[in-house]
Amino acid sequence: MRKQIVILGGGTGGTLTANRLRRRFHEDEAQIHVVDLDDRHVYQPGLLFVPFGLADQDEIVKPRHHQFRSGITFHETGVESVTLDDNRVVLSDASVLPYDVLVVATGSPLQPDETDGLTGPGWLERMFTFYTVEGATELRRALERFQGGRLIVNMIDMPIKCPVAPLEFAFLADWYLQERGIRDRVELVYTTPLDGAFTKPIASEHLAGLLDEKNIELVTEFNTGEADGNTGKLVAYDGRELDFDLLVTVPLHGGAAYIERSPGLGDPLGFVQTNKATLQTVANENVFALGDATDLPTSKAGSVTHFEGEVLTENVARFLSGQELDARYDGHANCFIETGFHRALLIDFNYDTEPLPGRFPSPAGPLPLLRESRLNHLGKLMFQWFYWHALLPGREVPGISPAMSMTGKKQPAAV
Ligand SMILES: Cc1cc2nc3c(=O)[nH]c(=O)nc-3n(C[C@H](O)[C@H](O)[C@H](O)COP(=O)(O)OP(=O)(O)OC[C@H]3O[C@@H](n4cnc5c(N)ncnc54)[C@H](O)[C@@H]3O)c2cc1C
Repeated sequence: MRKQIVILGGGTGGTLTANRLRRRFHEDEAQIHVVDLDDRHVYQPGLLFVPFGLADQDEIVKPRHHQFRSGITFHETGVESVTLDDNRVVLSDASVLPYDVLVVATGSPLQPDETDGLTGPGWLERMFTFYTVEGATELRRALERFQGGRLIVNMIDMPIKCPVAPLEFAFLADWYLQERGIRDRVELVYTTPLDGAFTKPIASEHLAGLLDEKNIELVTEFNTGEADGNTGKLVAYDGRELDFDLLVTVPLHGGAAYIERSPGLGDPLGFVQTNKATLQTVANENVFALGDATDLPTSKAGSVTHFEGEVLTENVARFLSGQELDARYDGHANCFIETGFHRALLIDFNYDTEPLPGRFPSPAGPLPLLRESRLNHLGKLMFQWFYWHALLPGREVPGISPAMSMTGKKQPAAV
């Protein structure tokens, strides 16, 4: 009998998994369904560039259904709930999808309404996020109008997608304001709930150094409780207040709302408890999860989702043929960090090894780690092509592996 594989979410993880599974199974062996709310696939790393006029909406948004190989059934509707006991998904259009294997890839939706005042007066006038296409587009207009004052780049709380993206925004804002000749009229402030610029100590020190060099004030352990767009104030839970003329914030993130309506599927925040090495969930042996939807202790990043997808696809195949699962995923993550002036850093790490300096052996040649370079900036720009043409279609890329390599890295003692 043909197996039914149902994938919830057709973003980065859902699309690459569907395409990898389609390559792996003949259509007689498995029917593959993908469910997503809409038909717009957004290349999210591109959102960073929109506010600075470096990318346009039409370059980073493509029809979702065009990203699937033939033989994949796309359902353009929401997920209402999952019933683990009888292996069924109820969709918002009231149809029901029974499954042999379920893959949860619904990412981590933004929850701006969860912060007092944030979506009240001043939202999309002096308070913005670049984490959505609409927000990034409005922010571009606001930045064009901006003539000076106090610009705060803020992250409400962790976890967020791509934890370095707000830092990149601050670095690019410094570059953009210099290009416009108004940098000396702007006080740039970066606030974070963390105790440093980033989560991992060595990278945190490097990034704090860069903020300092660029005259961007770093405010740590700032847990935002309220945003007031009338008075231009951010208020932390500990009572500290910061004034702003323009706020660029990253709202709270959570799991998709249907997870709460699906008993046993997720934790109280709506994230899916997932085995960190196999991507099988705690919920059930025939339920797997990847990407931002999981509770795994690694970054919520496209690179992570890509590496996870490779192991997850293997494990769906092994599960269906009754074989032992592959426990190969080690938390591998990598990310280019734009620092402005056509330069970027690269970090590469996993569950156990924090980002280290050295050189990353990429298929295009060695790239400097934790050091600004033009080559890394070109790598960041190239990634968009790689995303649409290799990562999403589920092609194998030699030299890029779910297991992190120590080749080229300098161990802490040698740092
Ligand atoms: C501004 C920004 C910059 C970034 N930069 C980088 C970077 O430089 N490098 C990097 O590696 N990563 C980056 N990321 C992170 C990366 O985009 C995500 O980690 C990645 O897309 C995660 O894939 P995913 O499949 O888990 O989630 P997504 O790609 O977000 O897909 C989730 C899908 O689920 C769908 N969905 C949600 N709820 C429902 C529902 N109820 N019913 C049906 N469908 C639903 C959504 O519509 C969406 O299509 C960035 C993200 C942002 C926002």
